[in-house]
Amino acid sequence: MTELHRRTFLIGSLATAGVTLVGAGVANAISYPFTLGVASGEPAADGFVIWTRLAPSPLNADGLGGMSGADVAVEWQVADDQYFTLNLRTGTATAQQAWAHSVHVTLTGLQPGREYWYRFRAAGHISQVGRALTAPAVGTSPALSMLFTSCSHFEAGYFTAYRRMAEEHPDLILHLGDYIYEGGAGSGVRAHQPSAEISSLANYRVRHAQYKRDVDLQAAHAVAPWAVVWDDHEVENNYANLTRADSSPAGDFTARRTAAYKAYYEHMPLRSAQAPSGANLQLYRRLRWGSLATLHLLDTRQYRDDQACGDGTKLCPAADDPARTITGATQESWLVDGLGQRLGTWDLIGQQVFFAQRLAAADGSKSMDSWDGYTANRTRIQNGWQARGNPGPVVLTGDVHRHWAANIMDDYATQHRIIGTELVSTSITSGGDGSATETGTSSLNPHVKFYKNQRGYVRTVTSSTEMRVDFRVVDKVTVRDYPIKTAQSYVIEAGNPGLQAP
Ligand code: FE
Ligand code: CA
Repeated sequence: MTELHRRTFLIGSLATAGVTLVGAGVANAISYPFTLGVASGEPAADGFVIWTRLAPSPLNADGLGGMSGADVAVEWQVADDQYFTLNLRTGTATAQQAWAHSVHVTLTGLQPGREYWYRFRAAGHISQVGRALTAPAVGTSPALSMLFTSCSHFEAGYFTAYRRMAEEHPDLILHLGDYIYEGGAGSGVRAHQPSAEISSLANYRVRHAQYKRDVDLQAAHAVAPWAVVWDDHEVENNYANLTRADSSPAGDFTARRTAAYKAYYEHMPLRSAQAPSGANLQLYRRLRWGSLATLHLLDTRQYRDDQACGDGTKLCPAADDPARTITGATQESWLVDGLGQRLGTWDLIGQQVFFAQRLAAADGSKSMDSWDGYTANRTRIQNGWQARGNPGPVVLTGDVHRHWAANIMDDYATQHRIIGTELVSTSITSGGDGSATETGTSSLNPHVKFYKNQRGYVRTVTSSTEMRVDFRVVDKVTVRDYPIKTAQSYVIEAGNPGLQAP
């Protein structure tokens, strides 16, 4: 027996003894608790996070998922194969009521650039099996297959696109925000719970649980590690930092954001180090995928100034005030510094709202909620990466419920030079079925090349020489189980920003 195998065997034996202890007295005292599935996230070269939440009655109005106040020991298992026969590693985490009996286990000591399988056991029950991957080692650049999407409104349609994402078996999935929606029950294909707009911790927990019960979403979480960032609807439509967008429901908005951020953390495969502190949760971060790509994940909600001239699409010179920020000063310098480090061949920026300029009318009207409402902040970041010799990141975006593709320009008025590329994913469901024939590009925005009002996600396959991009769509989400197809493809060359024909 090699040293490694002997050690693994001993760890396994100890954990088995622990499980016997946990099982005694409480086995079957809790009915099946893994109703919300399993997830992995935050892949690193030596590990990743695995997540689950114990919730035998996930929609109970108190948000406690049918659990009592007692702590519960949750055994985790990670193996080299999906049958859990090879190199089994185990350990025990504690699920606490204070965190809605969620567990976030950060695994370390794993091998870079390979697949693993994981599952949980608690109170005599065993969870579904999830697949996760470690990032490749720095110094290596194997190709990355990555999917990204946003805006999954439970009422607007079925999560077929999540199912299709699972079937693609990617290495990594990004969710760029609007993972849940906060509104009350409306008139979609299925109804939100609770039925009123959510604002309390109990209500945010029930809403997250309702989404997580969806089997298509569970399949997408189980197939690959996710890296998640929120947008507005995880708290409230169009909120900005601690400024609420409207007065309904009444109540203290800081308390509401605190509740929403806590419930978000409780339901996402984030590191326990990211657990919120009061109304704050540091979500912006970098993930490295070997020497191939660096993923800069932004938070454009928590630190932003309020929308200039109010929400919506406006002609608003105040949006160009140099003092305005969508990132906050700290995140801005962190991003520019990171883009200057050139840690990998590709710099990918995963973020929420439309980055390139997008004029809505000849008078200069623009969306106040996007980077067009914070133009000086955008200019400083663009100038920052150019000054540091970065050939141009690929910005990955959500929010607008349409597929878009754009070249990022050093000057949008003169269309002088391409300095980056933006890929905007449509929604999983938000906006409903859409229209395959609708047109959206305009001579006002010659750098914007593609528009599609259908639901789906973006598939990327990235090597050290090029990124292949496929905009994936389903024809309907109000009817279950439509197939996926590619509406448009592009290629981006490493070191040569801009969209090219495949
Ligand atoms: Fe949305
Ligand atoms: Ca949004």
